[in-house]
Amino acid sequence: MRPETYFDKLISESEIRIIILIINKRMKIEKISLVGKTLENLIEICESYEVKKFRAKQLFNWIYKNKINTFNSIKNLPKIFLHQLEKEYKIHSLNFVRSTQSESTLTNKFLFKTQKGSLVESVLMIEGKRVTLCLSTQVGCALDCKFCATAKMGFIANLNPGEIVDQFLLVSKSLEKPITNVVFMGMGEPFLNYNNVIKAADLLHDPNGINLGYKRITISTAGIVKKIDQFSNEGQKYKLAISLNGTTNEQRLAIMPVTKNNSLNSLLEVSKKYTTNSNTWLTFEYVLIEGSNDTIEDASRLIEILVGVKKCKLNIIPYNVTDGIFQRPDNTHIKEFMKKLNQAPFPVTIRWSKGTGIDAGCGQLATTEKSISD
Ligand code: SAH
Repeated sequence: MRPETYFDKLISESEIRIIILIINKRMKIEKISLVGKTLENLIEICESYEVKKFRAKQLFNWIYKNKINTFNSIKNLPKIFLHQLEKEYKIHSLNFVRSTQSESTLTNKFLFKTQKGSLVESVLMIEGKRVTLCLSTQVGCALDCKFCATAKMGFIANLNPGEIVDQFLLVSKSLEKPITNVVFMGMGEPFLNYNNVIKAADLLHDPNGINLGYKRITISTAGIVKKIDQFSNEGQKYKLAISLNGTTNEQRLAIMPVTKNNSLNSLLEVSKKYTTNSNTWLTFEYVLIEGSNDTIEDASRLIEILVGVKKCKLNIIPYNVTDGIFQRPDNTHIKEFMKKLNQAPFPVTIRWSKGTGIDAGCGQLATTEKSISD
């Protein structure tokens, strides 16, 4: 045992804790949320209270499996420990603001507020047994894609793992059916918040908690080549989608400024590397915009540039109107475009966004302070 020092006599650990609590209260420092903590983090917390390690696993279970809202619901942990925890911690990191249902009731948009007061949206889509939740990874977005409503907000903040996972937990709590799939396709560019997104995906996947299979979690990127390379080198098992949206570098650059430092060629090269290394499918998304990237030559070029990417799928998303600058091609033209793509040796699908009536379609998510009073 360590010999007692002068300082130990001066102030004990529990006294330090009390002082920190008083300072936090005075400075109005918010409690730390437990959602977002890994099992290792919870073990550290338990150890700091001199509580046995196995309690951390129980706590992890309560947070992510039982999806509790209050410390009172926890049944098998010592009351004293819960009481101590509650003084410094809270469960959730987001506050639910409201949800908006589409006419069909099959799409639901959820609005949340972060501790710092930013607003984030998630979209729930129900198609039979498949229940998909579209998660936001940032407040706003820095990439300035010309066709996307989130871009108009500019970049405001990265969401931390707790704020990403909490969208899932809070929406789950409000549903009778379980969420079967998660897509990181809400507000923000996931690969510009890489570490937090991977940590959130790991929490969504953890078999001791939420337990979503790797292939039920899709991360969509506007094409940050370095990060796709990192994802590939790390052997990440989550599904990957890349928003292509152009068939030449020039055309893509005009609508996606991210192309400036991430050329179309380098994007295709890293995609080839990824599918070869991982031997898994890679989905390319292609927002079809009238007069911008929707000629029959574009359809032919799409086949040409993607044919070299082993195991690729192409998903065409007819543009959802956001501010009137761009238009969706008419249905006859979309059909012609798809007809040409029928010649592709890889699978091609079309995604008619759900929830456009409540601005919950792809690329329509944007929040303002006004969103709260609307
Ligand atoms: N930043 C990531 C994820 C968010 S966007 C990404 O770019 O992949 C999710 C998808 O919606 C992307 O494929 C994007 O190209 C598409 N999208 C953006 N705005 C759109 C719009 N107005 N209509 C249809 N799809 C849109």
